[in-house]
Amino acid sequence: MIIDTHAHYNDEAFDEDRDELLKSLPNNNIDRVINVGADMNSTEESVLLSEKFPYIYAAVGVHPDSADEINDFSLARLEELCKNEKVVAIGEIGLDYYWDNVDREIQKDAFRKQIALAKKVNLPIIIHSREAAKDTIDILFEEKAEEVGGVMHCYSYTKESAEIINKLGFYFGIGGVLTFKNGKKLREALEVMPLDRILLETDCPYLAPVPFRGKRNCSLLLPYVVEVLAECKGITTEEVERITKDNAERLFFDK
Ligand SMILES: [Zn+2]
Repeated sequence: MIIDTHAHYNDEAFDEDRDELLKSLPNNNIDRVINVGADMNSTEESVLLSEKFPYIYAAVGVHPDSADEINDFSLARLEELCKNEKVVAIGEIGLDYYWDNVDREIQKDAFRKQIALAKKVNLPIIIHSREAAKDTIDILFEEKAEEVGGVMHCYSYTKESAEIINKLGFYFGIGGVLTFKNGKKLREALEVMPLDRILLETDCPYLAPVPFRGKRNCSLLLPYVVEVLAECKGITTEEVERITKDNAERLFFDK
């Protein structure tokens, strides 16, 4: 069984067949899904989805693209939502210097405040970080984020950064990019990621694996990622499933 640690089933790409698709997951080797919030609205939707399906869980948080939504009021609402037992993480939070939608100082401030919240409610964090490796790592150090731990979702940095993140005790989220022709940098970084620190994720509806690249992604396509991961690490697909599931349980579900 597979745990999809990063999905966005609230996305309008699933409006046509959301319930049908989600109902089919347990019969298709998907054990659990964490639906991740990206702003206050999708955070509320993630919690609602988690209340509707026993195997869907929620992460609550505000993505750097919406970092200007973070204020005392929204932070209080996020904290309130963490009392729900289906909420298993704070995310996705971090820095995005690729899109640079929000002033970088505001992004950093929102990231720090949500790490502080994670520590307060004792939940791990799901980190979104794009073209901001140094600042992300600096903030994780400064805020002592390792006290709650978490995952670098959709890992996109170098082998060297992976070594630092590994030393900090964080996990690595691996998805469709691993199967891409231009996924060479990720396959190299994977060499220094210990097996017990790897989590499977879709980031659906985005980042569908080959041979579905460009199409709508969903948890049912994770076996294509499992296959490449098994090849890269020289283990069986069964081992990949078992180990990544254990990892997800350790980080998100062992209370
Ligand atoms: Zn995401």
